[in-house]
Amino acid sequence: MALQVRYPHSEQTASPKSLSHKQIWAVATSVRSQLHVESCQRNLPLEQRIPRLGRMVVNEVHFEVDWDLEHNVVNHAGRPVMGATEYDKASPGCVMVSVNGPKLRNDTLLRSTIAHELGHVVFEGPAWVLCPPEQPVQNSFTGRVSSRDVREVRANEFMGALLVPALMLRVDLQRLARQHRLQRSRRPSEVLTNTPAYDAGKLDPDIIADVIFELAERYGVSESFMRVRLERYNLLRSTTHKLER
Ligand SMILES: [Zn+2]
Repeated sequence: MALQVRYPHSEQTASPKSLSHKQIWAVATSVRSQLHVESCQRNLPLEQRIPRLGRMVVNEVHFEVDWDLEHNVVNHAGRPVMGATEYDKASPGCVMVSVNGPKLRNDTLLRSTIAHELGHVVFEGPAWVLCPPEQPVQNSFTGRVSSRDVREVRANEFMGALLVPALMLRVDLQRLARQHRLQRSRRPSEVLTNTPAYDAGKLDPDIIADVIFELAERYGVSESFMRVRLERYNLLRSTTHKLER
């Protein structure tokens, strides 16, 4: 079965329209629901779901996705990168994804790189297939994302919401907050409706660190990844001010 995805896009070029974070999260939720994850399961072993990611229908555009996790990956400048998504009109109707498996021995890094590249497949793939570029194109991922590059920001938001969905994290954080008797902020989350939020700066840093560690373990992502999600959903504020993302 091909993975089915829809989002607002241009009919002519198949490129995404300007998507809000919430629209990107909705795409991630839809993809997650098609990956046969139990509804209560937090950890998404994406590296084991590659066989389900070989065919896609995005906004009615059909294409294949060729995944390679076995080799070292370099960008056009010859520098090693974590992953790359490419299209070459010599292989029509096929998006190629390379993830630097040999370098990414750490499971959480492997998983987040697959999720990021899958974001490029979902959002860039249809336009490449429908209007093939003259020259081969490549999006490569070094781990650092410029906030001005719409495609990279979009792939990162997709990655974040795929591995850590907002509505699940909201439930888990509230449970942990109750256990640890964390006092909620007077300001609720500005991103998720009817959801309490917490101000990290006013709470015990050791407890906050424990909570983040536990959540990261539960979802199979790194602690810095979890901090970014908590911040993005405006559930726990001011944990990432020193982190560059
Ligand atoms: Zn990228």
